[in-house]
Amino acid sequence: MDECLFCNIVNKNIPCDKLIENDSIIAFRDINPQAPIHILIIPKKHISTINDLKHDDSILIGEMFLIAKELAQVENINNSGFRMVFNCNEDGGQTVFHIHLHLLGGRKLSWPPG
Ligand code: 5GP
Ligand code: ZN
Repeated sequence: MDECLFCNIVNKNIPCDKLIENDSIIAFRDINPQAPIHILIIPKKHISTINDLKHDDSILIGEMFLIAKELAQVENINNSGFRMVFNCNEDGGQTVFHIHLHLLGGRKLSWPPG
C-alpha cells in the first residue's frame, strides 16, 4: 500500500503530530481540524473502508474506541462532550481510504451533521 497516505504515516514516510502509538494503532492530530480538538485514530493494518472489516478485526476496532475515549480524557473534552465517527465511501464523506476514527470536540457540534 505504497500509495496510501495513512500507510505512509504508519511507516513514518510522512510526518504527523502523533499522540499515541502502540503495536496496532496510531493516533495523531488532523491536519485540517474541524473542531478545536480533532484527532484521527487509525489501525496500522491497511483496511480501506468499514465495509472491509472482518470479524477478526473486532478487538482492533474496540481498541480504537478505547484509545479515543482515553484521548477525550487527556484533551479534557470528556465532560463537555465529543463525537466519534467513521466516514464510509462517497456519501459518508470518506476521502482517505484507510479507515480512521475521528475524535472531535472542544465546541458545540451540530446535529444532524451536514
Ligand atoms: P475522511 O474525510 O476520509 O473521513 O477524513 C480524512 C481526514 O484526514 C480529513 O479530516 C483530513 O483533514 C485528514 N488528513 C488528510 N491528509 C492528512 C495528512 O497528511 N495528515 C493528517 N494529520 N491528516 C490528514
Ligand atoms: Zn493504508
